[in-house]
Amino acid sequence: MSTLRTPRELADRDLISPGQLGEIERVAEHYAIAISPAMAALIDRNDPNDPIALQFVPQVSELMTTPEERNDPIGDLAHSPVEGIVHRYPDRVLLKAVHVCPVYCRFCFRREMVGPQGLGTLSPDALDRAFAYIAEHREIWEVILTGGDPLVLSPRRLSELMQRLASIEHVKIVRFHTRVPVVEPERVDAALIAALRASGKTTYVALHANHPRELTPAAREACARLVDSGVVMISQSVLLKGINDDPNTLAALMRAFVETRVKPYYLHHPDLAPGTSHFRLSLEEGRALVAGLRGRISGLCQPTYVLDIPGGYGKAVISPDAASMRDGCYAVSDFRGVEHLYPPA
Ligand SMILES: *Cc1c(COP(=O)(O)O)cnc(C)c1O
Ligand code: SF4
Repeated sequence: MSTLRTPRELADRDLISPGQLGEIERVAEHYAIAISPAMAALIDRNDPNDPIALQFVPQVSELMTTPEERNDPIGDLAHSPVEGIVHRYPDRVLLKAVHVCPVYCRFCFRREMVGPQGLGTLSPDALDRAFAYIAEHREIWEVILTGGDPLVLSPRRLSELMQRLASIEHVKIVRFHTRVPVVEPERVDAALIAALRASGKTTYVALHANHPRELTPAAREACARLVDSGVVMISQSVLLKGINDDPNTLAALMRAFVETRVKPYYLHHPDLAPGTSHFRLSLEEGRALVAGLRGRISGLCQPTYVLDIPGGYGKAVISPDAASMRDGCYAVSDFRGVEHLYPPA
């Protein structure tokens, strides 16, 4: 079985109906499609709201773009000093070596840049310039490989990248943002893991998953292989309407990460990517969901809820209500929502 990439293949596998073929062909002209064998197998064809299908099977609503949506929702281009590098924060850069993914998420924030019609893979010359930039900027403590999904690269290419980073003394941390352990767990083999560890630097892997069902036994085993080899894992999820915007699903997702030794890191508010308004909920709804996790599930399971500020200003934490002042005291709420007073200093 191989990755499904065309509307025809989706129809043949019962993921869209033959009557939808025309409109989904139109979506395919704009946005890349890929559903890996592991994710195709996980979809429940009998559930019209299956949370795995909603993430990967294209829908006609993607053709509708709203005025506030933008092609570069988080402003990568505004902070790209050389091709393939995004340098928004002083001590860390994104290195986008590939713009290909093993699956294409329908809500992707970089959907205008990824896929066969996207920005492609960095040329050898562009890669040289990107490494030269990292080497020249001594304030860069961490390099974050993202894209696209860097783990689609072969172990040979990955270990080349890691060896080049190994030679840059001021880089101490290499972080990968990926969906591979979940969507293509068989790819996480000894050769790939050896490549990730090739630099002798500290390797972090941020795993992108949005629904607890994605943490299949095979996915959990892939993560176990990474963690056992000394990679530190953290999570990254997007809060998505109809997929994980309820307290039980979010709690189960965060617990599944912790059980898998993946520390919950970020829960992203959805970005203003074109054709994704059907996935967006309000900030108040998001804030209420996140506040509901506190106390209800272990502190280990708490993600930080963040919003990428449109235009390239970076991430802002959307915290549940902080302490307010009442009767000259700080008013704080416990996990049941009951207010208590704390004296000022
Ligand atoms: C999100 C992001 C990072 C990583 O931010 P952390 O808060 O360290 O996870 C780094 N650079 C850019 C451009 C980003 O968008
Ligand atoms: S894996 Fe990431 S970059 Fe690729 S389509 Fe999904 S959200 Fe976009």
